[in-house]
Amino acid sequence: MLKVLKFGGTSMADAAQYKKIKDIVNSDPSRRVVVVSAAGKRFSDDNKITDLLYLCHAHIRYGVSYAGIFDMVRERYISIRNDLGLKRNIEAELDILQDKMDHGITREELVSRGEYLSAILMADYLGFPFVDASRWLFFHYDGTIDQEKSYSTLRSIVRDGCAVIPGFYGLMPDGKIRTLTRGGSDITGALAAAALDADVYENWTDVSGILMADPKIVDNPRTIERATYSELRQLSYSGAQVLHEMTVFPVREKNIPLNIRNTNDPENPGTLVCEEFKESAAERHRFVTGIAGKCDYSAVTIHKKGMAGSVGNLRNMAEIFENNTVPICYTPTGIDCISMVCPTEKLAPHMYSLTDELRKEMRPDSIKVTDGIAIIAVVGRKMAYRTGTAGKIFDALGEAKINIRMISQGPEELNILVGVDHKDYANAVRVLYNAFVK
Ligand code: ASP
Repeated sequence: MLKVLKFGGTSMADAAQYKKIKDIVNSDPSRRVVVVSAAGKRFSDDNKITDLLYLCHAHIRYGVSYAGIFDMVRERYISIRNDLGLKRNIEAELDILQDKMDHGITREELVSRGEYLSAILMADYLGFPFVDASRWLFFHYDGTIDQEKSYSTLRSIVRDGCAVIPGFYGLMPDGKIRTLTRGGSDITGALAAAALDADVYENWTDVSGILMADPKIVDNPRTIERATYSELRQLSYSGAQVLHEMTVFPVREKNIPLNIRNTNDPENPGTLVCEEFKESAAERHRFVTGIAGKCDYSAVTIHKKGMAGSVGNLRNMAEIFENNTVPICYTPTGIDCISMVCPTEKLAPHMYSLTDELRKEMRPDSIKVTDGIAIIAVVGRKMAYRTGTAGKIFDALGEAKINIRMISQGPEELNILVGVDHKDYANAVRVLYNAFVK
């Protein structure tokens, strides 16, 4: 039996959190492989080490002294080492890093050092071998993971033993450090679990699983006890904040259950995610698993008389988005009109070139860009077998006088998406939560 555990930034924030982790690991001999994040926030106004390292890099780039910021990194790791009573010469590691900062270090290598330092200390504290991510997590030149090589290398290193692995980074074919996107230690953990054919991937964070709605909007939302991989993918893509949205893929490929747990409440079973499971009596009555959403989308809409009867328009428009490197999240269409919905921050730098190209290539009667759209996803694996979900959504929002700007249902009937104005976003989430969960 093997459990791969990943501990996020708040779980790694100080020595007290390291102690909780040690208790969790020691309570179960199958908890043998531990992936860690950089130290995160200890309290709400605190800094995350990774953010400080990004800031150091920006200072180096603009020729401004980084000393004050790097001191905060230094102090944090030295105090963790001291408070745990470890002998490790972490100052030597920090000096090597500082020397590299003075003589040229890539941004990716610099920001990866938080995970590196966390893992060194955690390995010492647990008495497990430190296995650097650069020894096994290999990227292709295009930035995708070389899964075959990475998996076989990690298997040959760990075998049946124990390991502490830093999350968030790996090695490029040219020997340079490359990082995953922010929050990427979740992915490192999932890749390690898949490489080692773990029985469970436990992702330890500071909440007891995925909540049915954003707790900043809904008071005390319920926890999702169990969800399928597809539901997790939908919820995290749509804005649920617990895990990196790409975490699900490696574990799903190997059918490894994913258990989201709380380091500060280790007895809580959290959320279990797998391919399928038998329903409990409580689950039988509920057909919405969760509600997630995000703000700051823009819709680019073109109208052209007769467009519905001609071919290639969707492809042409998508190609123009592609040329401008603007990702398309949703594509609501009407008769003679197509909308492409994308994150506003991704559209903004390309808006003029994109709309200009649309005008030249597609010769539409009009082009309209609408900002300030929020998209809410109502997700549930059982919606496919029920009538009335869409009706209930529209009734609830209608009664609350919330105007629906856009509607879309995924073809697998796993989610219904509604677009609303920013100003209505929080209210819409509350209204939907009350309609389906309360
Ligand atoms: N430390 C990195 C970040 O803050 C990666 C992670 O914690 O997963 O994004």
